[in-house]
Amino acid sequence: MGHLALLIIIEKWSMRELQIIHSIFDQVLRKVQEDGDNRVTRLQLALGALSELNPVSIQNQWRSISKGTHAEQVQLHLRLISAEVQCMACFRKYHPADKKILCPHCGSFGAKILTGEECYLEAIETKHE
Ligand SMILES: [Zn+2]
Repeated sequence: MGHLALLIIIEKWSMRELQIIHSIFDQVLRKVQEDGDNRVTRLQLALGALSELNPVSIQNQWRSISKGTHAEQVQLHLRLISAEVQCMACFRKYHPADKKILCPHCGSFGAKILTGEECYLEAIETKHE
């Protein structure tokens, strides 16, 4: 197993997106080093609906980062997690539409986010060579 990839940094990417993609690459690289003979075939990333990251943009970035490297054949799968918040006024739970926090029960803007801000690598599938 050679070097997995060299990160090529393109300025139009936001810092946050770069950090996430970079950290995914770090985790994949570590996994490959631990397993020796295993080849990474698929990655699964959990992404919350309230995340500022766009699934299409993540896929595009993954493709350009992995192009021409050992990771080029690795499929990146995104598992989207729907958003759920709890109203701070009436304490009822609801799913915000279009990332807007506005309680459909009492009209309050205050809410605690229960799910939807996730962005993490949750699975790495490997194949023994
Ligand atoms: Zn409410």
